[in-house]
Amino acid sequence: MSEFDLQGIGMTSQRTRDRLVARLREQGIEDEAVLRLIGSVPRHIFIDEAWSHRAYEDSSLPIGHGQTISQPFIVALMSQLLNVSPRERVLEVGTGSGYQTAVLASLCQRLYSVERIEALVPRAKKRLEAMKLRNVALRYGDGYGGWPEKAPFDGILVTAAPPEIPAALQEQLTVGGRLIVPVGTDQSQSLKVIDRTETGFTETILERVHFVPLVAGTERR
Ligand code: SAH
Repeated sequence: MSEFDLQGIGMTSQRTRDRLVARLREQGIEDEAVLRLIGSVPRHIFIDEAWSHRAYEDSSLPIGHGQTISQPFIVALMSQLLNVSPRERVLEVGTGSGYQTAVLASLCQRLYSVERIEALVPRAKKRLEAMKLRNVALRYGDGYGGWPEKAPFDGILVTAAPPEIPAALQEQLTVGGRLIVPVGTDQSQSLKVIDRTETGFTETILERVHFVPLVAGTERR
């Protein structure tokens, strides 16, 4: 039974979640805490009803405003790479549906998340409240600059792609902290891991990915 079992959610979605977990395992996700969360967070409540029958497919889906909920494999991969512990504080840039937010919040002590499209924020907030996740703070704003008032963070995860690594985000890492960010243009992006060391930053380039662009400024609609 899911630790986040909500009213009206039956065994069907549990079975389809279990299948998704098995698939992610086959694809190389091995962090058991992350797999447990993919197996228990009800992704269908983060998606508009028209698409919710596809909630446990390993694909991104539209969430309105030209944005998408990330593919479960990517959510799992980025969460695994972030490698946070329950005593750590994490910043997410690009709340979107709030699904990745829910997964991360369950792995760390406190999760901060910034979203530039105003209409998405209350929707994500409602879903996170329904899951009784109380260690989350959401903010409507431009995440390019991070969240200076709450910095530094042990982990920062960016769920949209900037053309280059935003300097402000690197600066808001603790020493030993880690930034996961897809970098590049619409056609070509790669997932990068930036680790802050005593003396500076190290960069690791991972696989090709496809994210919506990180856009400067906010959008009120
Ligand atoms: N993890 C989210 C991904 C949503 S898509 C999910 O699975 O639902 C990426 C999100 O980043 C979009 O909601 C988009 O509006 C947001 N975004 C893009 N540029 C941003 C910026 N500069 N600051 C904050 N959010 C931004």
